[in-house]
Amino acid sequence: MTPKEVLEFAREKNVKMVDFKFLDFPGMWQHFSVPISELSESSFEEGFGFDGSSIRGWQPIHASDMLVIPDPDTAVIDPFMQVPTLSLICNVVDPITKEKYSRDPRYIAQKAEEYLKFTGIGDVAYFGPEAEFFIFDDVRYGDASHYAYYFLDSREGIWNSGREECPNLGYKLRHKEGYFPVPPSDTFQDIRTEMVLVMEQVGIQVECQHHEVATAGQAEIDMRFAPLVKMGDQLMWFKYIIKNVARRHGKTVTFMPKPLYGDNGSGMHTHTSIWKDGKPLFAGDKYAGLSDIALWAIGGILKHARAICAFTNPTTNSYKRLVPGYEAPVNLAYSSRNRSAAIRIPMYSPSPKAKRIEFRTPDPSCNGYLAFSAILMAMIDGIENRIDPGEPLDKDIYALSPEELKDVPSTPGSLDEALKALEEDHEFLMKGGVFTEDVIEEWISYKRTREVDPVRLRPHPHEFYLYFDV
Ligand code: GLU
Ligand code: MG
Ligand code: MG
Repeated sequence: MTPKEVLEFAREKNVKMVDFKFLDFPGMWQHFSVPISELSESSFEEGFGFDGSSIRGWQPIHASDMLVIPDPDTAVIDPFMQVPTLSLICNVVDPITKEKYSRDPRYIAQKAEEYLKFTGIGDVAYFGPEAEFFIFDDVRYGDASHYAYYFLDSREGIWNSGREECPNLGYKLRHKEGYFPVPPSDTFQDIRTEMVLVMEQVGIQVECQHHEVATAGQAEIDMRFAPLVKMGDQLMWFKYIIKNVARRHGKTVTFMPKPLYGDNGSGMHTHTSIWKDGKPLFAGDKYAGLSDIALWAIGGILKHARAICAFTNPTTNSYKRLVPGYEAPVNLAYSSRNRSAAIRIPMYSPSPKAKRIEFRTPDPSCNGYLAFSAILMAMIDGIENRIDPGEPLDKDIYALSPEELKDVPSTPGSLDEALKALEEDHEFLMKGGVFTEDVIEEWISYKRTREVDPVRLRPHPHEFYLYFDV
């Protein structure tokens, strides 16, 4: 839409308010609203000022006045407001220099798309994330003493995924058996459908929804693939819609990768391919119907995987998912058959257009713009340097002996390890000025001081279970 068309659209829909949405550094939507009378065609150039203090991860120099510049292409009616409200996703801009802010994740993603074109490798990279999540009735969290009470009260330290109904009507899903019996075992069909319908209202094309493997409440909704920035935007809508539909039903949703001990976690397998002049570049006559370009792209992802995990798996909780036995990848290998490999080549369709790679390591706690950009930059590096991904690993990796696995590298064991890997390996991200030095440095320091250390230094609930009576 042009700015003029946005204003016409707003009139047609009787819009009263305009909601500006933009991202903080870790990737959560922030927002503020103005009456529709404040929006004019020039707003799309001049933007709107706001007080940027207290936005997570922003520089002190930017801690006060900032501008948001709304992107007219993102105009939709917000499905959750009682008063008709136009929603616009914005870029963040310095009010003095008018430069786009280096720590705005959407800007980094825009630069990654531009850089792909600049290399001449391709003109569009598509991303299709399969973000899994849990729907809960009741979440208990709080300070360590609260946890301790809860865990002292439970035998195994396993959370209940929902309040028991009264009377107990049975059909409880056993652990790891949620994929996927019909109702009444699956009690979430209607709520997932409602989520899908609201996604369609804001223009997201959905391919499928289903219960996932973990015990009651784990879900997956799959969006049709889209270009990088567009998918970044859609992933924000995706989480917003899922959380808000759940809230309507008195339920709550988490995208944290491993909320339940002893059951499957939530991944965000990410399908990706690069195209040029309307032609898919990943289809060819090599292994699993891939092209050389696709194999080099795999080589790039595998080479830089430990560093890109700092963006694709950016929480301390992410590394509780990346363990053997729960369908999450642990080893950095690729295969067409093997779902235990970090990269799988789906074989559902013989069509060259469907040829893509599935990177299974990411999880939905990531900032989509940064995760997809890091994956793209690793693929570009692989293609430019013709990085050989080595032989595929067509065996069940979980069943291999340590001897057989000794040459297969593994995913980082902790966020701290991933941040160290990023510290040592980030040149590939900085090509074309996509990720700048201040972004890499601040990401590492933010994650260490705000997440790694506070988690490491706190007494863990399970320590009370193990050690209270020593
Ligand atoms: N939940 C699994 C994971 O953590 C994936 C299950 C699936 O294959 O979709 O990656
Ligand atoms: Mg899944
Ligand atoms: Mg998958």
